[in-house]
Amino acid sequence: MPKTIPLHADTGHSTQVLGACPHDCPDTCSLITTVENGIATKVQGNPNHPQTDGVLCTKVSRYTERSYHPERILTPLRRSGPKGSGQFTAVAWDEALADIAQRLSAIAADPARGPQAVLPYSYAGTMGWVQGEAMADRFFNRLGASLLERTICASAGGAALEATLGAKVGMRVEYFAQAKLIIIWGSNAIGSNLHFWRYVQTAKRNGAKIICIDPRKTETAEKCHEHIALLPGTDAALALAVMHQLITHDWLDHDYIAQYTLGWDALRERALKWPPERAAKVCGVSVTQIESLARDYGASVASGAPAAIRLNYGVQRARGGGNAVRAVACLPALIGAWRHSAGGMLLSASGTHGFGKSALGRPDLRQSGSTRTINMSTIGNDLLRPASPDFGPQVDALIVYNSNPVAVAPDSGKVVRGFAREDLFTVVLEHFQTDTADYADYILPATTQLEHWDIHTTYGHTDILLNRPAIVPLGQARPNTDIFRGLAAAMGFTDACFAEDDLTLCRSAFDARVDFEQLLAHGFVSPPAPDAPFAQGGFGTPSGKCEFFSARLAAQCGDGLPDYLPNYEPGKPGTAYPLAMISPPARNFLNSSFVNVTSLRAIEGEPALEINPADAAARHIVNGDAVWVFNVRGQYHCKAHVTNRARAGVVNGLGVWWRKMGLDGTNVNELTSQNLSDMGHAPTFYDCAVEVQRARPSSA
Ligand code: SF4
Repeated sequence: MPKTIPLHADTGHSTQVLGACPHDCPDTCSLITTVENGIATKVQGNPNHPQTDGVLCTKVSRYTERSYHPERILTPLRRSGPKGSGQFTAVAWDEALADIAQRLSAIAADPARGPQAVLPYSYAGTMGWVQGEAMADRFFNRLGASLLERTICASAGGAALEATLGAKVGMRVEYFAQAKLIIIWGSNAIGSNLHFWRYVQTAKRNGAKIICIDPRKTETAEKCHEHIALLPGTDAALALAVMHQLITHDWLDHDYIAQYTLGWDALRERALKWPPERAAKVCGVSVTQIESLARDYGASVASGAPAAIRLNYGVQRARGGGNAVRAVACLPALIGAWRHSAGGMLLSASGTHGFGKSALGRPDLRQSGSTRTINMSTIGNDLLRPASPDFGPQVDALIVYNSNPVAVAPDSGKVVRGFAREDLFTVVLEHFQTDTADYADYILPATTQLEHWDIHTTYGHTDILLNRPAIVPLGQARPNTDIFRGLAAAMGFTDACFAEDDLTLCRSAFDARVDFEQLLAHGFVSPPAPDAPFAQGGFGTPSGKCEFFSARLAAQCGDGLPDYLPNYEPGKPGTAYPLAMISPPARNFLNSSFVNVTSLRAIEGEPALEINPADAAARHIVNGDAVWVFNVRGQYHCKAHVTNRARAGVVNGLGVWWRKMGLDGTNVNELTSQNLSDMGHAPTFYDCAVEVQRARPSSA
């Protein structure tokens, strides 16, 4: 147990402070930070939090290295060289805030531009509700800025879950330990869902069969009983073929289907068009593998043994990503898997408690009724768009926080051109001088998770966690909340909500629905969550059923049933770009976070492209060669790893490296497109065709 739990950092003692991991990871661990004489010396997993169980991933167990990194930005900086040069001069906070406020006010007051020429840009650099959007939302709502559609990671899958199950709700992760069949679909759990993997290990020891479905032979796939390496973007075809087998062999829970689903006859008709032979050709796997998968899954009906699917967001990063998630999400209802607490599916549990963020973000501060919305996934195009009646004003000011779009947004050649606009006024709140910060007019130093309050929900389990500051802010760093408070004051916004401190924001996030004293005492609470959320239906859809058929989707386009949509860029042999590329995260990075942590980057080595031995041999590429990966959008220089981790016809460009740490100042997003998915306006990072060529020795 932590010995003491100070409310604020204590500079005179050795103490342990309870916190929460802020990163974009479903595990949302409870942290214990040891502080000695005001210095954080160690960050460990909280053994009293069942989901964390005392264990952290390698990345966050090195959190002190990141927080005390010699390259932390510790004063406000003003650009002193050309855009993108990365040249800055230190400036006082008051001077920076006054100048930024003056620039934003001038844009907002200009009738030809107005406040919607200002765009916030943020995502999950922190998942915290307070340092994420709370005070930032208040600021941008009060200003009347453009809204940002936050799609870059999960919106296709989220839309699909909502259409099919009615909410982002699923199995409780701890019950995977009791499943007898676990299908890990599109997830490298060992790298990005470590605590789920521990439950899988328990299930495996108890005799469960574990199957991995993933184009890449990941560390996780290697440790499963079977690995189905399908082609990227073909998951819906595989799910439909599994349905075909469930139907033709009558491995169905007819009672569950009759009581708790909508659209069965139509789905049945669709699935019967997908015999394994057809899907095998589309997916690039064998008929036997599909039959075996369906047999294992369907066996649950007769045996009553729970079958569980852990789906992850990689599946939805393709043109048909929403349909793919819908197809997979239909499977548990067909075999009645939801009847068991250890059966069903989990993609996201973030909707379990139904909490909303409006108390923190205060949308009521927005005075104008109509506000335009810009999709963060098309920022490359949108920063280059002139004013027009359709688009509205050109984006003339950009405030970036909790994100590194120059590295992580697709089609980054265009993103860079947009950020390089001399007439674009850019402010970046950051810990480090990232690729995005290089293009800022002002960089404002933000605190890390060790230095501020925050409160966290999670998408991988159902607890709520509190993060206390363990140390005082380094240098002149300020919490995001405080930076937006300062900007609000400089803009003359006098609304009382800007005076609320961070502890008040944490307390008010969930009001009486969560016992805040428990959070203060233990660092986490576990609000009641159903053991088997859909055992007796109760779906949050308009019909109250699992909607195989969605009238809402049918009204938008298509026939309202899940279907297979081929990729925009399947990477067909014989074409100019014959290889399909996916860009899963390098194991020691998390999106673009941690790339500059020296010890983690040392493990990753250099930017790498995994390529199958057959594809490499056809191009005279040997392991370790420098290669060019290219398509119509650009080219990326990296090292070839010739390995069976890549299946034939598919290359894996591990990300997301900072561009400036790459071999030629680009990263894998130089190649990805701004095409959007079928649902949720999401990016299609894993729907990208390329060719690969050995670099000439002079470029190596
Ligand atoms: S990144 Fe994930 S596994 Fe690692 S400490 Fe954070 S929540 Fe836990």
